[in-house]
Amino acid sequence: MDKTTILKKAKENNLTVEWSDWLISARVQNLLLINPNLLKYDKFCNDTLAHEFKHTGKMTKNDLWIDMVEGSIIDTLVFCFRHPKAFARFIPIAIYKKELQVDVNTIIIYFVIGGLLFFILRM
Ligand SMILES: [Zn+2]
Repeated sequence: MDKTTILKKAKENNLTVEWSDWLISARVQNLLLINPNLLKYDKFCNDTLAHEFKHTGKMTKNDLWIDMVEGSIIDTLVFCFRHPKAFARFIPIAIYKKELQVDVNTIIIYFVIGGLLFFILRM
């Protein structure tokens, strides 16, 4: 996949694109943030785009749900090890354009994982 294709697909979904090494991909309302290194991995790039296009860019239950059930943890980790700046995506707060961005879905997922571990370890 190349940058032009991504820009075209984003436009079809009424999104503008910004490139960043410090994440894999993210939606902030109508903005799609995407790691340019994704272009090197066709399948992961396609999966990631399909995922981001499903998001509403707002905090809905559906957005949380697709973040919990979709996406390959292995693909994500392999990508992060190859492009270590992308590990920053696991930090649920970021400063973007001098504004604090809180990734609520990631925080909720941490609580879910934490809760599961808590119950598993108590058994
Ligand atoms: Zn997502």
